[in-house]
Amino acid sequence: MAAAIAIDGPAGAGKSTIAKKIAQQLNMIYVDTGAMYRAIGLYFHRLGVAPEDGETIGRLAQQAEVSIAYEGGKQQVYLNGENVTAFLRTEEAGNMASAVSVYPQVRQMLVRQQQKLAAVRDVVMDGRDIGTVVLPKADVKIFLTASTRVRAERRCEDLKSRGLPCDMELVEKDIIDRDWRDTHRAESPLRQAEDAVLVDTSDMTIDQVADRIIEIYRERQRPAAKTEKKEA
Ligand code: C5P
Repeated sequence: MAAAIAIDGPAGAGKSTIAKKIAQQLNMIYVDTGAMYRAIGLYFHRLGVAPEDGETIGRLAQQAEVSIAYEGGKQQVYLNGENVTAFLRTEEAGNMASAVSVYPQVRQMLVRQQQKLAAVRDVVMDGRDIGTVVLPKADVKIFLTASTRVRAERRCEDLKSRGLPCDMELVEKDIIDRDWRDTHRAESPLRQAEDAVLVDTSDMTIDQVADRIIEIYRERQRPAAKTEKKEA
């Protein structure tokens, strides 16, 4: 495995903003695994398959080819050859992603791809199961969190900045529901890996969080230097 930083945590904790920043500073690639689940969600949404129809989803999951590429340093997500990146950041796509990500066939297919990518590239990968399932040997594992209110406010700011409407109460309720589903599903539930560092971002700036994670990464890269310092 090449170098890897795994960042897990609930929706709206700041994972993607922070992971992107770290990737840029450490010259690694940023892998947004949520976008891959959103693409699968979009696939089933377009087919008109109900999220409860596990049998059909399990059967058809293999026919959805989700791949990622980097254009101008930005991740692009392809669904059966079509660039669907522009359709992924809506609340509907997020909710559909959360609903279909409970199925093992969906997860296995995406996890395989994520592991293949991390085997050949230095990655900052964010998601829900990166430290626990996808990259259990990552150099650094971070569990990012923040209060549901702060996360709803951040999500609304993001939606508004893209000219989309936002109902704060509704977004907070969606976050609570999604957290519940993500932490209670049988297959790879969201949980903090035992060796992950917990970082609560509610009262921290993006730069503070990114600097802290880079510091942890560098400390782990230099275990000998750290020991020397301790002894001096
Ligand atoms: O991170 P994001 O909100 O884009 O993810 C959308 C949904 O995809 C999450 O609510 C979660 O259910 C699912 N997901 C997952 N495992 C990942 C990444 C995302 O189950 N590694």
